[in-house]
Amino acid sequence: MVETDQNYLKRVILASDVYMICLQHALTTEKEEIMGLLLGEVDEKERISHISGAMILLRSDKQPDRVEISPELIYTATTYAEEISQRINKPIRVLGWYHSHPHITVWPSHVDVRTQSTYQMLDSLFVGLIFSVYHNDAGSSANHVQVTCFQAIKSGIDYERREIELVVGISPFEFHNLEGIVKLPKILFEEEINRHAEVGSGSRDELTLIHNNAIKTVELLHIVSQIAKPLCTDLEKRLLITKSRIKKLQRLKKKLQDKNLKVV
Ligand SMILES: [Zn+2]
Repeated sequence: MVETDQNYLKRVILASDVYMICLQHALTTEKEEIMGLLLGEVDEKERISHISGAMILLRSDKQPDRVEISPELIYTATTYAEEISQRINKPIRVLGWYHSHPHITVWPSHVDVRTQSTYQMLDSLFVGLIFSVYHNDAGSSANHVQVTCFQAIKSGIDYERREIELVVGISPFEFHNLEGIVKLPKILFEEEINRHAEVGSGSRDELTLIHNNAIKTVELLHIVSQIAKPLCTDLEKRLLITKSRIKKLQRLKKKLQDKNLKVV
């Protein structure tokens, strides 16, 4: 229907560094769903969303299959979007959300579609991304990563998913995304410490306390070895590549300046 089409997004262009942040976040755990918000600009006339930033959210209540965005989180994200807008001089705003589906298919559940429909009541072009991770198709041993981009469309008294075309655009690593990725181990640390503080506060038994502390240490070490360390290695490699590009460009600049002097 032409009329309904006009209320939905036509396409979403996701910057490659944001794709990397979301995926890295999704891969941090295969036990629970993770989530975050997407930031960027929307071309309302063309109905195209350009996603250029992400905000990783700290979960206060870890549930394996439930993700929620509270009004406070929306407020924090809006403030963060305003900060980026000022920094890069572009009208950046919150335009969607992402979450992970560890060990299950990429398709949004009924709850996901309903949640999405409530966001669309506030912003008809709001969009949802889902990253399916650690999910093996029958007969395949490889860990497939799948991504889907969706909106909710009214169907009778309920809603169903409407798939939106997703294009991953090659983009330079924006500074705010670099900051975002660096924050990831910190957020995971904070979540783990909060979780243990809640569990530990009820017990006075020495053995239980020692046991809980040992578990906490193992979990924090896991974050360091599996997330923070590989991230540092990756960023160091990027730094080397960037430094070598700077040198090449400086040499090129000098060559061009010399040529220019000769011509003059
Ligand atoms: Zn879901």
